[in-house]
Amino acid sequence: MTPAVVRLRPEIVAMAAYAQGKPADADAFKLSSNENPFDPIPEVVAAIAASSGVNRYPDAAGTELRARLAVQFGVRTEEVHLGAGSVSILAQLISAAAGAGDEVVYPWRSFEAYPGLVAVAGATGVPVPNTADHRHDLPAMLAAITDRTRVVMVCSPNNPTGAVVTDAEFADFMAVVPAHVLVVLDEAYVEFVTDDSVVNGRTLSGRYSNLVVTRTFSKAYGLAGLRIGYAVGPEYILDAARTTSIPLSVTEAAQRAALVSLDHEETLLERVHRLAVLRDEVWSALLDQGWRVPRPHGNFVWLPTGEHTAAAAQVFSAAGIVVRALGSDGIRVSIGEAQSVDKLLLAAAEVVGTLPMRHPALALD
Ligand SMILES: *Cc1c(COP(=O)(O)O)cnc(C)c1O
Repeated sequence: MTPAVVRLRPEIVAMAAYAQGKPADADAFKLSSNENPFDPIPEVVAAIAASSGVNRYPDAAGTELRARLAVQFGVRTEEVHLGAGSVSILAQLISAAAGAGDEVVYPWRSFEAYPGLVAVAGATGVPVPNTADHRHDLPAMLAAITDRTRVVMVCSPNNPTGAVVTDAEFADFMAVVPAHVLVVLDEAYVEFVTDDSVVNGRTLSGRYSNLVVTRTFSKAYGLAGLRIGYAVGPEYILDAARTTSIPLSVTEAAQRAALVSLDHEETLLERVHRLAVLRDEVWSALLDQGWRVPRPHGNFVWLPTGEHTAAAAQVFSAAGIVVRALGSDGIRVSIGEAQSVDKLLLAAAEVVGTLPMRHPALALD
């Protein structure tokens, strides 16, 4: 082994490398990364093939796509920002607002990337535990805001618990957050929401001078491998985010594929609808098995298996289902191919039978 001579930032060395969903065996279903199971539509494949030569840099401003998204949100093009995946925009926003000595408040469990992005920015993370029913504890998040707080993350639907923040809850929350604190509303799964009471960033444009909404083409639109997401918010905040970004990371192919996806939005959202229907069927089957799991609003379900998580993940793996096991909190299973559902439910039934009486993942009766 090479001796460690170079002085690296200790907080970076201490961070475990990002654990990607395990590659699936050839005959296993990979339900560990909340990916879209449908193949890209032919128009997207054609758009990728037709994008200009890779010897040229992409359009740095991404003006055409930003203009299209601006129309959808009823904002100016300057109020839309593109990134190589919305994760990269989250990194930019955190770096733009928070540095050494500053705090970033986020719910936990939530998106696995949040703690790392905060650490890389040099800031201090302030995780706020979810409520017992796996939702954001918004009053506790408000109480965690101090003079040092620069950013508060809100994730709705929340990855991995699938819970949402309602429109009314979000309005009450924003009314209390100080105006100098940036609120980032991460809506990576908003397209899968079927409940009208859930907050939707598209209805909030122009309402708050300290709110940025982030979305992605990775999940509902099935472009995860191309890396393209976007943010909508006040121009001065997006300008600051852009300043921290690595220029030219959003490729021409990604921009073209996103534009074509908007042209064929109806087809893609019909697929999203099918996944949401399947999700609700899986949820009600889980309830019938005796699980107590939060109502899922994204393209995944959350099994709060607690200290039985590693053993439960083994059961799924043996059944040909690759899941995301998250510490000793639980298991997240994506809603993928319709053919995966029987296997998923068989494994879930086996796991629920192994949980001790009065385990919090079991329904009370
Ligand atoms: C998947 C995901 C993202 C974004 O992913 P990108 O592929 O980088 O756009 C952002 N937030 C959450 C909560 C996610 O699960």
